[in-house]
Amino acid sequence: MLTPAAGPGGPFTVVIVGTGFSGLGLAIALKKSGTHDFVILEKADEVGGTWRENTYPGCACDIMSLLYSYSFAPKRDWSRMFPRQSEILDYIKELVEEYDLAQHIRFGAEVTGAEYEDDSGTWRVLVNGGEEVVRGRALAAGMGPLHQPSVPDLPGLASFTGRTFHSAEWDHDYDLSGKRVAVIGTGASAIQFIPRIAERTSKLTVFQRTPPWILPKPDRRITRTEQRLFRRVPGVQRAYRDAIYLMQESFVLGFKNPRLLKIASGLAKAQLAHQVRDKELRRKLTPDYTMGCKRTLVSSDYYPALTRPNVELTTEGIAEVRERSIVTRDGREHEVDAIIFGTGFHVTDAFADAHITGRGGLRIQEAWKDGIQAHLGVTVAGFPNFFLLLGPNSGLGHNSMIFIIEAQVRYVLQCLRMLDGTGRITVRDTVQDRFNAWVQRKSEGAVWVAGGCTSWYLDENGVNRAAWPASTVNYWLRTRRLDPDDFEIVHG
Ligand code: NAP
Repeated sequence: MLTPAAGPGGPFTVVIVGTGFSGLGLAIALKKSGTHDFVILEKADEVGGTWRENTYPGCACDIMSLLYSYSFAPKRDWSRMFPRQSEILDYIKELVEEYDLAQHIRFGAEVTGAEYEDDSGTWRVLVNGGEEVVRGRALAAGMGPLHQPSVPDLPGLASFTGRTFHSAEWDHDYDLSGKRVAVIGTGASAIQFIPRIAERTSKLTVFQRTPPWILPKPDRRITRTEQRLFRRVPGVQRAYRDAIYLMQESFVLGFKNPRLLKIASGLAKAQLAHQVRDKELRRKLTPDYTMGCKRTLVSSDYYPALTRPNVELTTEGIAEVRERSIVTRDGREHEVDAIIFGTGFHVTDAFADAHITGRGGLRIQEAWKDGIQAHLGVTVAGFPNFFLLLGPNSGLGHNSMIFIIEAQVRYVLQCLRMLDGTGRITVRDTVQDRFNAWVQRKSEGAVWVAGGCTSWYLDENGVNRAAWPASTVNYWLRTRRLDPDDFEIVHG
């Protein structure tokens, strides 16, 4: 068995944060390239990232399973067209086994800060509040962009005496049977768990601020015959995967030219009309902004759940929370035993409190005072040998994030190769600025910015800080071959 070359405190060639798809993807690539002295710091006691954290009822991926895997590690036996959380988590655990990654992972190690030391050219990574320090010549942050639950600061929330929890911190010990439950939010997570809990609760009140666009979800079991075929003729699975990729990718044309989304929005409206007969309910559920402005969702059982007699959709807006109720702006008091927040995550402000300092003690908040940005979503000017995985403007609303992760991992490996183990690589300010100007130019007029909605893609000034503004092919082309002139590289 290969063991890390460094001692427990390092210095490692790379310190990786997180055991989700991005952290593990980088770890696998490092191993394949012959680098074994890396450590992966994981705050929890299990691998899996978002697929470990999110265990809410009905949790699944809305990208099809045949595309939602690493290109180099296809899973032949997906049981459904759209993978469920437990199956994705199993897939991640299988990867850890297959690539013998467990020896590199330190569980219960929450990274609470990171400081670049100019003299030694290494990163001091603070673990569990500085209780321990791990050193690395490079630091790769694979925490994921959707990681810190966001709970709105509703007036009176502290006075509520019932149970409250966020979708990413589901309380499985709390039995919802026969309870009056409020769900706040109608995003990707909420529309998955609402149909599941609607059957159990005595009354479910859904507080919607903005109706999402929802396409039908063509989910079904993958038959044993298909699974056998994938095993025996891998090319068939590959062709299937490529076809799904191209179908997903076609949405990007519509993001730039919303008229092209007419067919998709027509399909969404047809599903709504078919599943919701009540005119008033249908009106409340009809989006008044361009499809794609927020992430387009897929579900075939969300609308039917809202038509159940024990489910109410309220759109009045929340005025305050009381001891045992939520009062809406029309003055109505909704009595509830529990409040579930399906209110998403901190994205553009995720680093607001992070303790990360780069060259000359530069604080990340100072570097990002005009908004979060990184060259290609990966490298940050002023922060040598620091790599973000799924950093600013590398998120997608239309295709598999694993595609982006693979491209970023290839890019990081090229950076590391430039270092010969001891050097420093930092993206040039001018390069990062030029890239960011391009991102904002491409975002102008695009559906996220001009589509008539707000979303977690945008910061408080309405600037796109999260979404990749072009095709994934474009991303692949830009990251395929690193241009050394984009970086200041110091050897030795
Ligand atoms: P989300 O999509 O950001 O949705 C948050 C919801 O909460 C929105 O409906 C939002 O309303 C509402 N909300 C936020 N603050 C509120 C407030 N103060 N009062 C009332 N409503 C409020 O969050 P999410 O559903 O957790 O999903 C986050 C992301 O995770 C997704 O976009 C997706 O990328 C990912 N995800 C993916 C899958 C998948 O299948 N691949 C599944 C789940 C999640 P507004 O729209 O008005 O802001």
